[in-house]
Amino acid sequence: MMSTPPSDAIIVDRLKKSYGSRRGSSQVVAVDDVSFRVGAGRTMGLVGESGSGKSTIARLVTGLIPADGGSVQILGEDLTGLSPSALRAKRADLQIVFQEPYESLNPRLRVSAAIAEPLLLHTALRGDALKARVDELLELVALDASFGDRYPHQLSGGQQQRVNIARAIATDPKVLILDEPTSSLDVSVRVGVLQLLLALQRRLGLTYLLISHDLPTVRRITDDVAVMYLGRIVELGPTETVLSNPQHPYTEYLLASELSVDPRDTLPAFAVRESKQVGRPAAGCVFAGRCPIAEPACATETPQLQDLAAGHAAACLVRARQTT
Ligand code: ADP
Ligand code: MG
Repeated sequence: MMSTPPSDAIIVDRLKKSYGSRRGSSQVVAVDDVSFRVGAGRTMGLVGESGSGKSTIARLVTGLIPADGGSVQILGEDLTGLSPSALRAKRADLQIVFQEPYESLNPRLRVSAAIAEPLLLHTALRGDALKARVDELLELVALDASFGDRYPHQLSGGQQQRVNIARAIATDPKVLILDEPTSSLDVSVRVGVLQLLLALQRRLGLTYLLISHDLPTVRRITDDVAVMYLGRIVELGPTETVLSNPQHPYTEYLLASELSVDPRDTLPAFAVRESKQVGRPAAGCVFAGRCPIAEPACATETPQLQDLAAGHAAACLVRARQTT
């Protein structure tokens, strides 16, 4: 077996996942040949519109669902080779925070009991030591100790998400998967939760995979970013480079739609078709049906991620030819 350099906390290699047909409709290819690495202590962003496969990657990386192909390595260990019980033990090192803070909490458990739950499951802490650890975790997520006696419905969305984060870090994990952790929060609350995530990362040396469709969030807290479209990564690289010098037409489109929230702005010379009109093609580039620069070859040839500059890759036949 190949050994892994310790500097990569997450290695995703050629991951594939389809969902079975729902009542007569055909199979959905949710994740198609996705590979990326996240260095220890770093943050990788996954962006792309709804349905592009981001949450499926989160579930695959945490081992919540099995992959159809490819592999996931966390801290040098291949998840695909693990038994269910070994996977449960691994869960202590690898936690996930979901988009809906209230739905992630048991409404009948007080906050202190909710935070104690993973500790009871994965550690030997009991009694006073358990209570001390719960108080310490409340403090880490900047909640007053008095919050321990409350029920989830007595908290704001931001406070509920802090409780979920406290639960996620309770067992001292090394890797956190954050699936749209601030998307359902008010903008004013969002910044505070993002700042908390950044502070915890620095303090605890965490590695993050942050899923978001919000580019300002991605810009603020990720080191690298992968742009997804219909199950494939179409562009990958350092966040600053990708967002300031996008190479894939879909990334350009994402950035252009962000800039033109003011309807008086003229849209860039860019006629991207609505996604509703175009399904996933059986062959070729997944974006070809909407792409303003597509050529006939794009309908038949599947573009692979190709380095256009050091560490910055895009999967576009046209752009690859223009740069070589
Ligand atoms: P995202 O998080 O980027 O919105 P998802 O990973 O949730 O994307 O979904 C990717 C694709 O897989 C979508 O077409 C979605 O409808 C489909 N999908 C997700 N979960 C299921 C499921 N449990 N059964 C069938 N199809 C699913
Ligand atoms: Mg999702």
